[in-house]
Amino acid sequence: MDHTTLNIKPRILYHVAKAAWEGTLFDRREEICTMVSEEFQDKHTRRQVANQIRIAMGLDPHDNDLVLNDYDEEALMGMSNDSIIITNPDACQSCPTEKRNCEKACPLQAITRDDLGKVSINQEKCLGEGHCIQACSFGALAEKSQFVPLINLLKQHSHPVYASIAPAFAGQFGAEVTPGKLRSALLKMGFTDVLETALYADLITMKEAFEFDEHVKTDQDFMFTSCCCPVWIKLIENKFPDLMEHISPSVSPMIASARVIKQFEPDAKVVFIGPCIAKKSEALLPDVKGAIDYVLTFQELATIFEATNIHPADQEDHEKAVASWGGRVYAYTGGVSAAVATTLEKLIPHKVQKLVSLKVDGIPDCQKLLEQIRNGQFTANFIEGMACKGGCVGGPGRLLPPEEGREHVKKYGAIALANTPVENPQVYTILARLGHDSGMPGLSGKSPMAELLSRKLVQD
Ligand code: SF4
Repeated sequence: MDHTTLNIKPRILYHVAKAAWEGTLFDRREEICTMVSEEFQDKHTRRQVANQIRIAMGLDPHDNDLVLNDYDEEALMGMSNDSIIITNPDACQSCPTEKRNCEKACPLQAITRDDLGKVSINQEKCLGEGHCIQACSFGALAEKSQFVPLINLLKQHSHPVYASIAPAFAGQFGAEVTPGKLRSALLKMGFTDVLETALYADLITMKEAFEFDEHVKTDQDFMFTSCCCPVWIKLIENKFPDLMEHISPSVSPMIASARVIKQFEPDAKVVFIGPCIAKKSEALLPDVKGAIDYVLTFQELATIFEATNIHPADQEDHEKAVASWGGRVYAYTGGVSAAVATTLEKLIPHKVQKLVSLKVDGIPDCQKLLEQIRNGQFTANFIEGMACKGGCVGGPGRLLPPEEGREHVKKYGAIALANTPVENPQVYTILARLGHDSGMPGLSGKSPMAELLSRKLVQD
Protein backbone atom coordinates (compact mmCIF):
# COMPACT_ATOMS: atom_id res chain seq x y z
CA MET A 1 0.00 0.00 0.00
CA ASP A 2 1.22 3.47 -0.85
CA HIS A 3 0.88 5.52 2.32
CA THR A 4 1.88 8.72 0.59
CA THR A 5 -0.92 8.73 -1.91
CA LEU A 6 -3.32 11.63 -1.70
CA ASN A 7 -6.28 9.50 -2.64
CA ILE A 8 -7.04 7.29 0.32
CA LYS A 9 -10.04 5.63 -1.29
CA PRO A 10 -8.33 2.30 -2.19
CA ARG A 11 -6.95 2.05 1.34
CA ILE A 12 -10.33 2.66 2.92
CA LEU A 13 -12.01 0.19 0.57
CA TYR A 14 -9.39 -2.37 1.57
CA HIS A 15 -10.03 -1.95 5.31
CA VAL A 16 -13.81 -1.92 4.92
CA ALA A 17 -13.78 -5.02 2.67
CA LYS A 18 -11.40 -6.88 5.00
CA ALA A 19 -13.46 -6.11 8.09
CA ALA A 20 -16.71 -6.95 6.28
CA TRP A 21 -15.22 -10.27 5.17
CA GLU A 22 -14.07 -11.04 8.72
CA GLY A 23 -17.47 -10.03 10.12
CA THR A 24 -16.02 -7.25 12.29
CA LEU A 25 -16.97 -4.14 10.31
CA PHE A 26 -19.65 -2.82 12.63
CA ASP A 27 -17.53 -3.33 15.73
CA ARG A 28 -14.39 -1.93 14.14
CA ARG A 29 -15.73 0.92 12.00
CA GLU A 30 -14.65 3.77 14.32
CA GLU A 31 -11.30 2.08 15.02
CA ILE A 32 -10.65 1.87 11.25
CA CYS A 33 -11.57 5.55 10.97
CA THR A 34 -9.12 6.51 13.73
CA MET A 35 -6.35 4.35 12.28
CA VAL A 36 -6.66 5.79 8.76
CA SER A 37 -7.13 9.38 10.06
CA GLU A 38 -3.96 9.16 12.14
CA GLU A 39 -1.96 7.91 9.18
CA PHE A 40 -3.06 10.96 7.23
CA GLN A 41 -3.50 13.47 10.03
CA ASP A 42 -1.60 16.22 8.29
CA LYS A 43 -3.81 16.13 5.24
CA HIS A 44 -7.14 14.68 6.15
CA THR A 45 -9.68 15.39 8.83
CA ARG A 46 -11.40 12.61 10.68
CA ARG A 47 -14.74 13.68 9.23
CA GLN A 48 -13.45 13.22 5.72
CA VAL A 49 -12.24 9.71 6.50
CA ALA A 50 -15.49 8.88 8.32
CA ASN A 51 -17.42 9.94 5.26
CA GLN A 52 -15.22 7.95 2.92
CA ILE A 53 -15.87 4.89 5.06
CA ARG A 54 -19.60 5.64 4.82
CA ILE A 55 -19.34 5.89 1.01
CA ALA A 56 -17.45 2.57 0.93
CA MET A 57 -20.36 1.14 2.93
CA GLY A 58 -22.84 2.49 0.36
CA LEU A 59 -24.09 5.37 2.52
CA ASP A 60 -24.26 9.13 1.96
CA PRO A 61 -21.71 11.38 3.70
CA HIS A 62 -23.01 13.13 6.80
CA ASP A 63 -22.07 16.02 9.06
CA ASN A 64 -20.40 14.05 11.84
CA ASP A 65 -16.95 12.77 12.87
CA LEU A 66 -18.36 9.31 13.57
CA VAL A 67 -18.82 6.74 10.82
CA LEU A 68 -22.31 5.82 11.99
CA ASN A 69 -24.55 7.57 14.48
CA ASP A 70 -27.01 4.76 14.72
CA TYR A 71 -26.48 1.51 13.03
CA ASP A 72 -28.95 1.54 10.16
CA GLU A 73 -29.13 -2.04 9.00
CA GLU A 74 -31.66 -1.41 6.25
CA ALA A 75 -29.53 1.22 4.57
CA LEU A 76 -26.51 -1.05 4.61
CA MET A 77 -28.23 -4.17 3.37
CA GLY A 78 -29.89 -2.72 0.30
CA MET A 79 -28.85 -0.83 -2.78
CA SER A 80 -29.25 2.88 -2.47
CA ASN A 81 -31.75 4.63 -4.68
CA ASP A 82 -29.79 7.85 -4.46
CA SER A 83 -27.20 9.18 -6.85
CA ILE A 84 -24.25 6.87 -7.27
CA ILE A 85 -21.67 9.63 -7.77
CA ILE A 86 -21.56 11.80 -4.70
CA THR A 87 -19.41 14.46 -3.13
CA ASN A 88 -17.54 14.44 0.15
CA PRO A 89 -17.10 18.22 0.42
CA ASP A 90 -14.75 18.17 3.45
CA ALA A 91 -12.11 16.64 1.22
CA CYS A 92 -12.09 19.64 -1.16
CA GLN A 93 -10.56 21.83 1.53
CA SER A 94 -7.34 19.83 1.37
CA CYS A 95 -7.13 20.12 -2.40
CA PRO A 96 -4.62 22.69 -3.67
CA THR A 97 -5.68 24.79 -6.66
CA GLU A 98 -3.20 23.10 -9.02
CA LYS A 99 -4.77 19.70 -8.28
CA ARG A 100 -8.32 20.77 -9.09
CA ASN A 101 -8.97 18.62 -12.12
CA CYS A 102 -12.54 17.58 -11.45
CA GLU A 103 -14.27 20.42 -13.30
CA LYS A 104 -12.05 19.91 -16.36
CA ALA A 105 -12.80 16.17 -16.36
CA CYS A 106 -16.54 16.76 -16.75
CA PRO A 107 -17.51 17.35 -20.39
CA LEU A 108 -21.02 18.36 -19.31
CA GLN A 109 -20.07 21.19 -16.92
CA ALA A 110 -22.01 19.40 -14.18
CA ILE A 111 -19.42 20.19 -11.46
CA THR A 112 -19.33 23.58 -9.75
CA ARG A 113 -17.43 25.01 -6.77
CA ASP A 114 -18.47 27.39 -4.03
CA ASP A 115 -16.33 30.18 -2.54
CA LEU A 116 -14.67 27.72 -0.14
CA GLY A 117 -13.71 25.44 -3.01
CA LYS A 118 -16.25 22.75 -2.16
CA VAL A 119 -17.64 20.92 -5.18
CA SER A 120 -21.19 20.00 -5.95
CA ILE A 121 -22.73 18.06 -8.81
CA ASN A 122 -25.67 19.29 -10.82
CA GLN A 123 -27.64 16.04 -11.02
CA GLU A 124 -29.70 17.37 -13.93
CA LYS A 125 -26.58 17.62 -16.04
CA CYS A 126 -24.61 14.61 -14.73
CA LEU A 127 -24.81 11.45 -16.86
CA GLY A 128 -23.00 9.34 -14.26
CA GLU A 129 -20.12 8.13 -16.43
CA GLY A 130 -17.65 8.77 -13.61
CA HIS A 131 -14.32 9.96 -15.04
CA CYS A 132 -14.47 12.91 -12.61
CA ILE A 133 -13.87 10.37 -9.82
CA GLN A 134 -10.55 9.37 -11.34
CA ALA A 135 -9.60 13.01 -11.77
CA CYS A 136 -10.17 13.86 -8.07
CA SER A 137 -7.04 13.21 -6.03
CA PHE A 138 -8.76 13.70 -2.68
CA GLY A 139 -11.71 11.38 -2.85
CA ALA A 140 -14.12 14.30 -2.75
CA LEU A 141 -15.90 12.70 -5.68
CA ALA A 142 -16.68 9.07 -5.20
CA GLU A 143 -19.06 6.35 -6.23
CA LYS A 144 -20.97 4.40 -3.63
CA SER A 145 -19.73 0.87 -3.18
CA GLN A 146 -22.04 -2.09 -2.79
CA PHE A 147 -19.65 -4.70 -1.56
CA VAL A 148 -20.70 -4.66 2.10
CA PRO A 149 -24.17 -6.08 1.35
CA LEU A 150 -22.62 -8.30 -1.33
CA ILE A 151 -20.10 -9.81 1.10
CA ASN A 152 -22.93 -10.38 3.58
CA LEU A 153 -24.92 -12.13 0.86
CA LEU A 154 -22.01 -14.36 -0.12
CA LYS A 155 -21.43 -15.33 3.49
CA GLN A 156 -25.09 -16.11 4.20
CA HIS A 157 -25.32 -18.82 1.47
CA SER A 158 -29.04 -18.06 1.30
CA HIS A 159 -29.27 -17.64 -2.50
CA PRO A 160 -27.37 -18.77 -5.57
CA VAL A 161 -25.18 -15.76 -6.42
CA TYR A 162 -23.90 -15.36 -9.99
CA ALA A 163 -21.16 -13.04 -11.18
CA SER A 164 -21.86 -11.63 -14.64
CA ILE A 165 -18.46 -10.48 -15.82
CA ALA A 166 -18.24 -7.79 -18.50
CA PRO A 167 -16.58 -8.43 -21.88
CA ALA A 168 -13.79 -5.98 -20.94
CA PHE A 169 -12.47 -8.35 -18.24
CA ALA A 170 -9.78 -10.01 -20.40
CA GLY A 171 -6.33 -9.30 -18.95
CA GLN A 172 -7.57 -6.80 -16.33
CA PHE A 173 -6.39 -8.82 -13.31
CA GLY A 174 -2.91 -9.55 -14.73
CA ALA A 175 -1.64 -11.21 -17.88
CA GLU A 176 -1.25 -14.50 -16.00
CA VAL A 177 -4.86 -14.44 -14.75
CA THR A 178 -6.69 -16.47 -17.38
CA PRO A 179 -10.49 -16.35 -17.55
CA GLY A 180 -10.49 -19.82 -15.93
CA LYS A 181 -8.36 -18.64 -12.99
CA LEU A 182 -10.55 -15.61 -12.48
CA ARG A 183 -13.58 -17.89 -12.47
CA SER A 184 -11.96 -20.10 -9.80
CA ALA A 185 -11.14 -17.05 -7.67
CA LEU A 186 -14.77 -15.88 -7.81
CA LEU A 187 -16.01 -19.37 -6.92
CA LYS A 188 -13.64 -19.33 -3.96
CA MET A 189 -15.14 -16.02 -2.87
CA GLY A 190 -18.51 -17.72 -2.67
CA PHE A 191 -20.12 -17.11 -6.06
CA THR A 192 -22.19 -20.01 -7.37
CA ASP A 193 -20.89 -19.55 -10.90
CA VAL A 194 -19.55 -16.98 -13.31
CA LEU A 195 -21.49 -15.86 -16.39
CA GLU A 196 -19.67 -14.38 -19.36
CA THR A 197 -21.80 -11.29 -20.05
CA ALA A 198 -20.58 -11.56 -23.66
CA LEU A 199 -22.82 -14.64 -24.13
CA TYR A 200 -25.83 -12.44 -23.35
CA ALA A 201 -24.38 -9.83 -25.71
CA ASP A 202 -24.69 -12.61 -28.31
CA LEU A 203 -28.44 -12.75 -27.67
CA ILE A 204 -28.67 -8.96 -27.97
CA THR A 205 -26.63 -8.99 -31.19
CA MET A 206 -29.14 -11.36 -32.76
CA LYS A 207 -32.03 -9.29 -31.47
CA GLU A 208 -30.55 -6.04 -32.80
CA ALA A 209 -29.93 -7.66 -36.19
CA PHE A 210 -33.65 -8.44 -36.39
CA GLU A 211 -34.49 -4.93 -35.18
CA PHE A 212 -32.31 -3.48 -37.90
CA ASP A 213 -34.13 -5.58 -40.47
CA GLU A 214 -37.46 -4.38 -39.18
CA HIS A 215 -36.66 -0.67 -38.79
CA VAL A 216 -34.22 0.10 -41.57
CA LYS A 217 -36.02 -0.42 -44.84
CA THR A 218 -35.14 2.70 -46.83
CA ASP A 219 -32.08 4.91 -47.16
CA GLN A 220 -33.79 7.43 -44.85
CA ASP A 221 -34.00 5.03 -41.90
CA PHE A 222 -31.43 4.56 -39.14
CA MET A 223 -31.15 3.16 -35.61
CA PHE A 224 -29.01 3.77 -32.54
CA THR A 225 -27.35 0.81 -30.91
CA SER A 226 -25.05 0.58 -27.90
CA CYS A 227 -27.81 -0.46 -25.62
CA CYS A 228 -24.75 -1.55 -23.62
CA CYS A 229 -23.77 2.06 -22.79
CA PRO A 230 -26.26 3.67 -20.38
CA VAL A 231 -24.54 7.06 -20.67
CA TRP A 232 -25.03 7.19 -24.45
CA ILE A 233 -28.71 6.37 -23.98
CA LYS A 234 -29.10 8.93 -21.19
CA LEU A 235 -27.40 11.57 -23.34
CA ILE A 236 -30.01 10.99 -26.07
CA GLU A 237 -32.84 10.98 -23.51
CA ASN A 238 -31.67 14.20 -21.82
CA LYS A 239 -30.43 16.29 -24.73
CA PHE A 240 -31.87 14.77 -27.89
CA PRO A 241 -35.33 13.49 -26.91
CA ASP A 242 -36.54 14.04 -30.48
CA LEU A 243 -34.18 11.20 -31.54
CA MET A 244 -35.31 8.68 -28.92
CA GLU A 245 -37.56 6.77 -31.31
CA HIS A 246 -34.43 5.53 -33.08
CA ILE A 247 -32.92 3.85 -29.99
CA SER A 248 -32.84 0.07 -29.98
CA PRO A 249 -35.38 -1.14 -27.41
CA SER A 250 -33.04 -3.95 -26.30
CA VAL A 251 -31.77 -4.16 -22.74
CA SER A 252 -28.03 -4.13 -22.16
CA PRO A 253 -26.15 -7.46 -22.05
CA MET A 254 -25.79 -6.87 -18.28
CA ILE A 255 -29.56 -6.77 -17.79
CA ALA A 256 -30.04 -9.62 -20.29
CA SER A 257 -27.71 -11.89 -18.29
CA ALA A 258 -29.65 -11.28 -15.09
CA ARG A 259 -33.10 -11.59 -16.64
CA VAL A 260 -32.19 -14.89 -18.32
CA ILE A 261 -30.57 -16.44 -15.25
CA LYS A 262 -33.55 -15.43 -13.11
CA GLN A 263 -35.85 -17.24 -15.54
CA PHE A 264 -33.92 -20.41 -14.73
CA GLU A 265 -33.49 -19.72 -11.01
CA PRO A 266 -35.94 -17.10 -9.72
CA ASP A 267 -34.23 -16.87 -6.33
CA ALA A 268 -30.79 -16.21 -7.85
CA LYS A 269 -28.91 -12.97 -7.21
CA VAL A 270 -26.79 -11.51 -10.00
CA VAL A 271 -23.77 -9.27 -9.52
CA PHE A 272 -22.36 -7.42 -12.52
CA ILE A 273 -18.59 -6.86 -12.50
CA GLY A 274 -17.15 -4.46 -15.05
CA PRO A 275 -15.17 -1.30 -15.74
CA CYS A 276 -18.24 0.92 -15.57
CA ILE A 277 -19.54 3.18 -12.81
CA ALA A 278 -22.67 4.14 -14.78
CA LYS A 279 -23.84 0.52 -14.60
CA LYS A 280 -24.55 1.13 -10.91
CA SER A 281 -27.16 3.70 -11.94
CA GLU A 282 -28.41 1.62 -14.86
CA ALA A 283 -29.25 -1.27 -12.51
CA LEU A 284 -31.62 1.09 -10.66
CA LEU A 285 -33.51 2.45 -13.69
CA PRO A 286 -37.25 1.89 -13.19
CA ASP A 287 -37.80 -0.21 -16.32
CA VAL A 288 -34.94 -2.65 -15.61
CA LYS A 289 -34.70 -2.53 -11.82
CA GLY A 290 -34.68 -5.87 -10.02
CA ALA A 291 -32.60 -7.72 -12.61
CA ILE A 292 -29.12 -6.88 -11.30
CA ASP A 293 -28.67 -7.00 -7.53
CA TYR A 294 -25.22 -5.43 -7.16
CA VAL A 295 -22.58 -3.85 -9.37
CA LEU A 296 -18.84 -3.91 -8.71
CA THR A 297 -16.07 -2.30 -10.72
CA PHE A 298 -12.90 -4.20 -11.60
CA GLN A 299 -11.06 -1.87 -9.20
CA GLU A 300 -13.42 -2.79 -6.38
CA LEU A 301 -13.10 -6.50 -7.14
CA ALA A 302 -9.29 -6.22 -7.12
CA THR A 303 -9.53 -4.61 -3.66
CA ILE A 304 -11.79 -7.39 -2.41
CA PHE A 305 -9.37 -10.03 -3.72
CA GLU A 306 -6.61 -8.28 -1.80
CA ALA A 307 -8.67 -7.94 1.38
CA THR A 308 -9.84 -11.55 1.30
CA ASN A 309 -6.39 -12.89 0.44
CA ILE A 310 -7.66 -14.60 -2.68
CA HIS A 311 -5.05 -14.46 -5.42
CA PRO A 312 -6.54 -15.10 -8.87
CA ALA A 313 -3.13 -15.89 -10.39
CA ASP A 314 -2.70 -18.84 -8.00
CA GLN A 315 -6.04 -20.49 -8.76
CA GLU A 316 -6.71 -23.49 -10.95
CA ASP A 317 -7.76 -22.80 -14.51
CA HIS A 318 -11.40 -23.81 -14.80
CA GLU A 319 -12.45 -22.11 -17.97
CA LYS A 320 -16.03 -22.25 -19.19
CA ALA A 321 -15.79 -20.34 -22.47
CA VAL A 322 -19.19 -19.64 -23.92
CA ALA A 323 -19.39 -16.42 -25.93
CA SER A 324 -18.68 -15.80 -29.60
CA TRP A 325 -16.15 -13.35 -31.00
CA GLY A 326 -19.05 -10.96 -31.65
CA GLY A 327 -20.07 -10.94 -27.98
CA ARG A 328 -16.54 -10.46 -26.70
CA VAL A 329 -15.71 -7.44 -28.85
CA TYR A 330 -18.56 -5.41 -27.33
CA ALA A 331 -15.81 -4.23 -24.97
CA TYR A 332 -14.33 -1.71 -27.38
CA THR A 333 -15.68 0.97 -29.70
CA GLY A 334 -16.90 -0.51 -32.95
CA GLY A 335 -17.39 -3.97 -31.48
CA VAL A 336 -21.19 -3.84 -31.32
CA SER A 337 -21.42 -2.58 -34.91
CA ALA A 338 -19.07 -5.31 -36.15
CA ALA A 339 -20.98 -8.01 -34.28
CA VAL A 340 -24.42 -6.90 -35.53
CA ALA A 341 -23.22 -6.36 -39.13
CA THR A 342 -21.63 -9.83 -39.32
CA THR A 343 -24.65 -11.46 -37.71
CA LEU A 344 -27.12 -9.65 -39.97
CA GLU A 345 -25.24 -10.85 -43.02
CA LYS A 346 -25.63 -14.44 -41.82
CA LEU A 347 -29.25 -14.17 -40.75
CA ILE A 348 -30.62 -12.11 -43.64
CA PRO A 349 -28.00 -12.17 -46.42
CA HIS A 350 -30.33 -10.81 -49.10
CA LYS A 351 -31.39 -7.68 -47.23
CA VAL A 352 -31.35 -4.75 -49.63
CA GLN A 353 -30.45 -2.02 -47.11
CA LYS A 354 -27.01 -3.11 -45.95
CA LEU A 355 -25.82 -2.07 -42.50
CA VAL A 356 -23.54 0.96 -42.66
CA SER A 357 -22.15 1.82 -39.25
CA LEU A 358 -20.86 4.98 -37.63
CA LYS A 359 -19.06 4.68 -34.28
CA VAL A 360 -18.07 7.37 -31.89
CA ASP A 361 -16.69 7.50 -28.36
CA GLY A 362 -16.20 10.09 -25.63
CA ILE A 363 -19.11 12.29 -24.53
CA PRO A 364 -18.07 15.42 -26.50
CA ASP A 365 -17.84 13.46 -29.77
CA CYS A 366 -21.10 11.63 -29.00
CA GLN A 367 -22.80 15.03 -28.56
CA LYS A 368 -21.30 16.38 -31.77
CA LEU A 369 -22.49 13.37 -33.73
CA LEU A 370 -26.00 13.56 -32.30
CA GLU A 371 -26.20 17.23 -33.31
CA GLN A 372 -25.17 16.30 -36.86
CA ILE A 373 -27.79 13.57 -36.97
CA ARG A 374 -30.42 16.00 -35.75
CA ASN A 375 -29.42 18.27 -38.64
CA GLY A 376 -29.61 15.40 -41.11
CA GLN A 377 -25.82 15.34 -41.70
CA PHE A 378 -24.96 11.65 -41.70
CA THR A 379 -24.67 8.79 -44.14
CA ALA A 380 -24.82 5.73 -41.85
CA ASN A 381 -27.86 3.73 -40.72
CA PHE A 382 -26.48 1.99 -37.63
CA ILE A 383 -25.03 4.36 -35.06
CA GLU A 384 -22.95 3.28 -32.07
CA GLY A 385 -21.96 5.61 -29.24
CA MET A 386 -19.77 4.81 -26.25
CA ALA A 387 -19.28 7.38 -23.49
CA CYS A 388 -15.72 6.31 -22.67
CA LYS A 389 -12.81 6.83 -25.02
CA GLY A 390 -12.04 3.45 -26.56
CA GLY A 391 -15.34 2.02 -25.30
CA CYS A 392 -15.73 0.00 -22.11
CA VAL A 393 -12.02 -0.90 -21.99
CA GLY A 394 -11.66 2.84 -21.21
CA GLY A 395 -14.26 2.77 -18.40
CA PRO A 396 -13.37 4.56 -15.14
CA GLY A 397 -13.39 1.35 -13.07
CA ARG A 398 -10.83 -0.42 -15.27
CA LEU A 399 -7.44 -1.68 -14.09
CA LEU A 400 -5.50 -1.45 -17.38
CA PRO A 401 -4.83 1.39 -19.82
CA PRO A 402 -7.53 1.27 -22.55
CA GLU A 403 -5.17 0.22 -25.36
CA GLU A 404 -3.78 -2.66 -23.34
CA GLY A 405 -7.28 -3.75 -22.36
CA ARG A 406 -8.35 -3.65 -26.00
CA GLU A 407 -5.44 -5.90 -27.04
CA HIS A 408 -6.39 -8.49 -24.41
CA VAL A 409 -10.03 -8.40 -25.54
CA LYS A 410 -8.99 -8.81 -29.17
CA LYS A 411 -6.90 -11.87 -28.30
CA TYR A 412 -9.71 -13.37 -26.23
CA GLY A 413 -12.15 -12.67 -29.06
CA ALA A 414 -9.85 -14.36 -31.57
CA ILE A 415 -9.90 -17.67 -29.67
CA ALA A 416 -13.70 -17.81 -29.35
CA LEU A 417 -15.14 -21.07 -30.63
CA ALA A 418 -17.82 -19.28 -32.67
CA ASN A 419 -17.59 -16.14 -34.76
CA THR A 420 -21.14 -14.89 -34.28
CA PRO A 421 -24.14 -15.90 -32.17
CA VAL A 422 -25.53 -17.67 -35.24
CA GLU A 423 -22.83 -20.36 -34.87
CA ASN A 424 -22.75 -20.35 -31.08
CA PRO A 425 -24.39 -23.50 -29.68
CA GLN A 426 -24.63 -21.85 -26.24
CA VAL A 427 -27.12 -19.33 -27.63
CA TYR A 428 -29.39 -22.15 -28.80
CA THR A 429 -29.03 -23.92 -25.46
CA ILE A 430 -30.38 -20.82 -23.68
CA LEU A 431 -33.21 -20.42 -26.18
CA ALA A 432 -34.13 -24.09 -25.88
CA ARG A 433 -34.13 -23.92 -22.06
CA LEU A 434 -36.50 -20.98 -22.34
CA GLY A 435 -38.80 -22.97 -24.63
CA HIS A 436 -37.67 -21.71 -28.04
CA ASP A 437 -36.44 -24.64 -30.08
CA SER A 438 -35.54 -22.57 -33.09
CA GLY A 439 -33.35 -19.69 -32.00
CA MET A 440 -33.80 -17.26 -34.83
CA PRO A 441 -37.56 -16.62 -34.79
CA GLY A 442 -37.34 -16.73 -30.99
CA LEU A 443 -35.44 -13.44 -30.96
CA SER A 444 -37.39 -11.50 -33.56
CA GLY A 445 -40.46 -9.32 -33.36
CA LYS A 446 -42.61 -9.55 -30.27
CA SER A 447 -41.83 -13.14 -29.28
CA PRO A 448 -41.69 -13.84 -25.52
CA MET A 449 -37.90 -14.10 -25.72
CA ALA A 450 -37.63 -10.74 -27.50
CA GLU A 451 -39.92 -9.25 -24.83
CA LEU A 452 -37.68 -10.64 -22.08
CA LEU A 453 -34.72 -8.82 -23.65
CA SER A 454 -36.55 -5.52 -24.23
CA ARG A 455 -36.97 -2.39 -22.21
CA LYS A 456 -39.48 0.41 -22.35
CA LEU A 457 -37.74 3.72 -22.77
CA VAL A 458 -40.13 6.45 -21.73
CA GLN A 459 -39.84 10.03 -22.94
CA ASP A 460 -40.34 12.54 -20.12
FE1 SF4 B 1 -19.84 2.32 -19.06
FE2 SF4 B 1 -18.76 1.29 -21.28
FE3 SF4 B 1 -20.47 3.36 -21.48
FE4 SF4 B 1 -18.02 3.73 -20.42
S1 SF4 B 1 -18.49 3.12 -22.58
S2 SF4 B 1 -19.96 4.50 -19.59
S3 SF4 B 1 -17.67 1.77 -19.37
S4 SF4 B 1 -20.92 1.26 -20.74
